[in-house]
Amino acid sequence: MTTEQPEVVDYIVVGSGAGGGPLAARLAENGRSVLVLEAGSDAENDNYRVPAFHANATEDPAYAQDTFVAHYSDTTQAQRDSKFVSGKGILYPRASTVGGCTAHHALITIYPDNADWDDIARATGDRSWRATAMRSYFERIERCRYRKRPRLLPRARWLARLLSVLPVVSDRYVNRGRHGFDGWLETNLANPKLVTRDWQLFKVLAGAATRTLSGWLGRSLTAWEGLESFVDPNDWRVQRRRLQGLWLIPLSTADARRSGSRERLTQVRERVPERLRVRTGAMVSKVLFDGTTATGVEYLDGPRTRQVRARREVILAAGSFQTPKLLKLSGIGPADELRAHGIEVVRDLPGVGANLQDRYEVGVVSQMNENFALLEDATFEAPQPGQQPDPAYEEWLRGGGVYTSNGAVVGITHKSDPALPAPDLFIFGLPADFRGYAPGYSTSLQRNRDRFTWAILKSHTRNTGGQVRLRSTDPREQPEVTFHYFEEGTDSSGRDLDAVVAGIEFVRRLNDAADKVILDEVWPGPDADLRTFVRDEAWGHHACGTCKIGPAADPAAVVDSAFRVHGITGLRVVDASVFPRIPGSFIVLPTYMISEKAADAILRGV
Ligand SMILES: Cc1cc2nc3c(=O)[nH]c(=O)nc-3n(C[C@H](O)[C@H](O)[C@H](O)COP(=O)(O)OP(=O)(O)OC[C@H]3O[C@@H](n4cnc5c(N)ncnc54)[C@H](O)[C@@H]3O)c2cc1C
Repeated sequence: MTTEQPEVVDYIVVGSGAGGGPLAARLAENGRSVLVLEAGSDAENDNYRVPAFHANATEDPAYAQDTFVAHYSDTTQAQRDSKFVSGKGILYPRASTVGGCTAHHALITIYPDNADWDDIARATGDRSWRATAMRSYFERIERCRYRKRPRLLPRARWLARLLSVLPVVSDRYVNRGRHGFDGWLETNLANPKLVTRDWQLFKVLAGAATRTLSGWLGRSLTAWEGLESFVDPNDWRVQRRRLQGLWLIPLSTADARRSGSRERLTQVRERVPERLRVRTGAMVSKVLFDGTTATGVEYLDGPRTRQVRARREVILAAGSFQTPKLLKLSGIGPADELRAHGIEVVRDLPGVGANLQDRYEVGVVSQMNENFALLEDATFEAPQPGQQPDPAYEEWLRGGGVYTSNGAVVGITHKSDPALPAPDLFIFGLPADFRGYAPGYSTSLQRNRDRFTWAILKSHTRNTGGQVRLRSTDPREQPEVTFHYFEEGTDSSGRDLDAVVAGIEFVRRLNDAADKVILDEVWPGPDADLRTFVRDEAWGHHACGTCKIGPAADPAAVVDSAFRVHGITGLRVVDASVFPRIPGSFIVLPTYMISEKAADAILRGV
C-alpha cells in the first residue's frame, strides 16, 4: 500500500463500456471532473475498426478477457454442449478495453420493446421511465444517417400547421419516426445492394422475404416486392405497434468504422481534457466507505495498490459480471456469501449477483450449392505490415464493400406463438457457419464460404435464475457465473425452450423457399431432436440483471430508479446489470440510453 495522498475528483466511473462511457462523457461536458478507471487498455487495431472483423475482436488478446461461464450446474448436462471446454466451461466473450464490450460487439443497434421501460416505471412508480419519455434518450444519442432529417417548418403558422398534417407531405416535416439526428452515436444500415452482388444470398433472403411477408399480408409476393419491403425496425411507429417483420439492421458505424463508447469518450476528452480523464490498466478492487457513504475506490495499477477519492460519487459500470463482484468485494451483497469469504458486511443486499438473465441463441446452418460470391475477395484479416491488402479491405478503405457490414444481412422479428403480444424472436441471416462461442470460433466462422446461418435470438426470457458469485476475495479472479439454463432456472414451464424450437421450425420454412440454392441443413441437421439440441447447444451474450432496479421494499432490488444503491450514499450502478428484465432483442442501445438517463439524474442532483 502506498502512503501518498490520494487524488480527488468529483466523480469516479469504474468501467468505460456502454454504461460508463456515455455517462462519464456527459458529466464532463456539463462541467464535472470525472475520472474513468478502466481495467483494460486503449490499444486499437483493425479488428476494432473494421465492422466485419468483430468476431476477430472478441478473440484478439488486445481486448479479450478470458471469461468462461456455466450454462448449467448439472455437470453432465453442461458437458453435452459441443462448445464446452473441459475444466473451464463455456467461452463468454467479454472485452476489457476502453469501450468495454462495445469494442467487440456486432454493432447491431436495435431499439428495445416499449413495455421494457413501462414495466420499470410501473415497478418503481417513477414515471420518467415510461416508454414515451425514454424515447427522448434515443433521440439525444442517435445521429441517424439512413433516414432523412425532417425539414424545418416555415415561419408562417398556418402554413406550418398545414404542412404538419397533410398526408405524405407532413412526413417530410414531422419526425414521426422519432429518430435523433444530432447525437454522438451514428447509425447506418448495411448497404442492401451488397446482397444483389450474390445470387445465392439474394435467393435465400428473397425467399425469406416472400415467406415472412406473404404470411402476414395474406397474399403471395414476388421476390422483388418482398425485398423492397425492407423497413426500419427503430422507427417509433414500428415500436408502438410491436410489429413482426423483415428489417434491415441498423449498425453503429461512422465512416464505415466501429463507433461507440470509446469514440464518445475520445471526442469529449479532446474537447475538455481537464475534466475528463480515462486511466487504463486500472482494475478497481473495492469501493471505500465512511460508514455507509462511498468515498472513493482502491485500484490495482500493476503491482501497486492506489486510492482515489470522490468528492461527489462513485459510479460502478463494470458490467453484469464484474459490477456485482466489485460490490461484494466491497461489502455489499448477500450477507451469508460475504461472511463466508470473510468480507465485512457494509450492507446486506441479497439481490447483488442474483437475477442473472440472458437471451437464448441458436444457429441453424445450411450447406449452399456453392461458395458465396460476396465473400470471394474477403480474407477477414487485416493486412500485415508490407502485405498486400485483400480487395475487400481496399474497398473498405474507400468506405464500401462487405467489410462495412457485420455480416448480418437482414433481421426478422417473429412471434414464437401467435398469441403473444409482441415478437419474442429476433432472427438474422449471415453467410457464415455460426454455432456459438468456443475458442477459435472466429476462425471457423469463415472457414467454409458455402454456409449460411439463421441465428435465432429468444427475447424476454422467463428465466431469472442465473447467479454471479465470488470464487475468492482476489479482485483479479473471475467470479463464478452460472446461468441455470431453461428448466434448471426459473422457467419450469419450458416455454423458453418451446419458443426457440418454434424459431428453428420457422427458419426451416424460410429455407424451404430457397431450396434451389440450399443443399442441406448441416446444423442441427434434419434428424436432430430439436428440444435436446436447444437444451444442449443454446448460448447467450447479453448478460444482465445482476444489480436490478427496484423499490427499496423489494428485497431483491439493488438500486433505485435513479441508479442509487439502496442503503448507501454516493454510490450508483449504471450498466447492463441494472435491468430488472432483459430488454428487447439487443441490449447495447438500452444500455446507452440508461447511461444518458443516469447522467441526467446526477446532473439534476437526484
Ligand atoms: C460477442 C458479443 C457481441 C455483441 N453484439 C451486440 C450487438 O451487436 N448489439 C447489442 O445490442 N449488444 C451486443 N452485445 C452486448 C453488449 O455489447 C454488452 O451487453 C454491453 O456492452 C454491456 O455494457 P456494460 O456497460 O454493461 O459492460 P461492458 O461494455 O462490458 O463494460 C464494462 C467495462 O468495465 C471494465 N471493468 C470491468 N471490471 C473492472 C474493474 N474492476 N475495474 C475497472 N474496470 C473494469 C471492463 O474492462 C469494461 O471495459 C454483444 C456482446 C458480445 C459479447
